[in-house]
Amino acid sequence: MQKNDSIHENLLDLIGETPMIRLNRITSDFPGNYYAKFEAHNPGHSSKDRIAVHIIDRAEKEGKLKPGDTIIETTSGNTGFSVAMTCVIKGYKCILAVSSKSSPDKISLLRSMGAEVHVCPSNVPADDPRSYYEVAKKLHQQIPNSMYINQYFNEQNIDAHYLTTGPEIWEQTNGKITHLIACSGTGGTISGSARYLKEQNPNIKVIGIDAYGSVIQKYHETGQLDKDEIFPYRIEGLGKNLIPSATDFQIIDKYIKVTDEESAYVARDLAKKEGMFVGYTSGAAMQGVKQLVEENEFNTEDEVVVIFPDHGSRYMSKVFNDQWMEEQGFTEPKKETDKHTNVK
Ligand code: PMP
Repeated sequence: MQKNDSIHENLLDLIGETPMIRLNRITSDFPGNYYAKFEAHNPGHSSKDRIAVHIIDRAEKEGKLKPGDTIIETTSGNTGFSVAMTCVIKGYKCILAVSSKSSPDKISLLRSMGAEVHVCPSNVPADDPRSYYEVAKKLHQQIPNSMYINQYFNEQNIDAHYLTTGPEIWEQTNGKITHLIACSGTGGTISGSARYLKEQNPNIKVIGIDAYGSVIQKYHETGQLDKDEIFPYRIEGLGKNLIPSATDFQIIDKYIKVTDEESAYVARDLAKKEGMFVGYTSGAAMQGVKQLVEENEFNTEDEVVVIFPDHGSRYMSKVFNDQWMEEQGFTEPKKETDKHTNVK
């Protein structure tokens, strides 16, 4: 068949250009306008498609990869899926070291994409030989012709968002954005988007969302890694027990922390109120917005963009599972609709 503009050569063509969607009901009492940057619309269902394809494309251009080579990564799941998908399409072998905190659904997804998955304990320090960082590093040393993506310490992670997410947000808001709210894991999304946006308008305020149990917010405030901040938490993909160089702390105005419990309720609320079936960190980002409203961060003229990093389907055995919620001691306050259906 002849080349046809309406046919994509492969799935990688569909990465990026994700929609910006107005939030309506969940923000109805908040001053200003709120928009979700809906990253679940990427073919791998998360923002991580952007970094996988950018980092691998660049390594190919620099002659660092040839067909049949092995690509290794540490991941909370999403980056793994995006890297595995890109490897299938481009013809590389994919090995992933993941945290045992990752949901079983995510691990199955990685295996379904043909990746070799090593599950490593989440409750050990980053420099412990059992941690997923150390396991990935060791595999990289042992396997010839392998490339380690190393998203937490790879500048190209920031670049991927500087080149795509940032410009998309600027265009989609016609340059009217006043605030960017984004979760910070590797920090690539927030740093790259912020770098582009602040080049266009340095007055845009950039607020990162961190988890209780993570060192990121305190490091931003003090420049010190405080190990006392570290304890286990449930949200996957947000916060960290180390300082990633893929975070440009200078460009982020402030961080706020959110709880596992409130973030979980808000993720569920996004489905019920906006019909948006998005992941746990989207709930965390939106919980952050709620806290910022309480702090009087926004006024009626503001145009607030909130990044929703991934799709809810990855959390069916967690946030969207009532039994899991109960097991965590999360007892969602009864909603009017629930009360109504309970009437005998
Ligand atoms: N949400 C989810 C679900 C993620 O997997 C990640 C990536 N770890 C993030 C948010 C944070 O994105 P970034 O790593 O670019 O800071």
